[in-house]
Amino acid sequence: MPLTPVEKIWMDGELVAWEDAKIHVLSHGLHYGTGIFEGVRAYETKRGASVFRLDDHVRRFFRSAHIHQMELPFSPEEIAQGIKETVAANGLATCYIRPLAFRGYGEMGLNPLLAPVNVSIAVWPWGAYLGEEGLENGVRVKVSSWKRNDHNMLPPSAKASGQYVNSALAKVEAIKGGYDEAVMLNIHGYVTDGSGENVFIVRDGVLYTPPLSAGCLDGITRDSVIAIAKDLGYEVREKELVRADLYTADEGFFSGTAAEVCPIREVDDRALGANGRGPITKEIQQTFFAAARGEIDKYQRWLGFVNE
Ligand code: PMP
Repeated sequence: MPLTPVEKIWMDGELVAWEDAKIHVLSHGLHYGTGIFEGVRAYETKRGASVFRLDDHVRRFFRSAHIHQMELPFSPEEIAQGIKETVAANGLATCYIRPLAFRGYGEMGLNPLLAPVNVSIAVWPWGAYLGEEGLENGVRVKVSSWKRNDHNMLPPSAKASGQYVNSALAKVEAIKGGYDEAVMLNIHGYVTDGSGENVFIVRDGVLYTPPLSAGCLDGITRDSVIAIAKDLGYEVREKELVRADLYTADEGFFSGTAAEVCPIREVDDRALGANGRGPITKEIQQTFFAAARGEIDKYQRWLGFVNE
């Protein structure tokens, strides 16, 4: 899905024209991956655009920066405000939002502490990340031959730009192999997450997802899914999973801001029990979308209205 340009991008506190949001080719982050970012979505609700779990995303943005010892020149309140302003300035109700903090232009060499920190917030219309068909009928997944970066290599609990080279290797391997998405194992062989999504399986009516210690990101959609599943009366267990657990699951799905709640139909050419969107996946998916669109009172706490 190519990017659809919108009007404005927030750069270091100012809204600038989309085409003017440029950086120098000698920016540190471009060479060494020294940046941290977030992926956020806004959904249209009866009260206008709402940024889903805005404060949680801003908190994770600052946690990522802290892990990488980047002092951000803005407060969490300013970033949250910047996100709302950028959505509003582009007149979008439903969109994807990308806050990014990166080491900028001024110094080269590996020490990132010498380079300035720049912050940008961009928004654009983005449909179903794994395709509308995927949301309906599930995606085909490959367990990657690339392992997820370990806690002592590149902390997977931070959303750092450079670590997505690891995800990109897995994604390319999956796409070139004819699959829609990759699942990555950690160096011990346990399931972590997709290239940009957390993983859930369902077996005998119980949901399972890897614990954060396996090396998956502390996904905000993952957290929403766990809350929704429990509210629907399902048991959710965080448990280390191996690849065969995926093959033999009744149902499986990804959770992520971009991918939303997307069923997994097959893993390594083995159909999961449901061979499509399973009934529990569908119930959670529908509840998730209804919550994000402000249709369920009990999840109003997750809404961040842009115009209020
Ligand atoms: N794992 C990885 C590696 C990711 O990049 C993402 C996307 N941020 C997720 C999981 C899902 O996290 P979230 O639900 O917060 O978007």
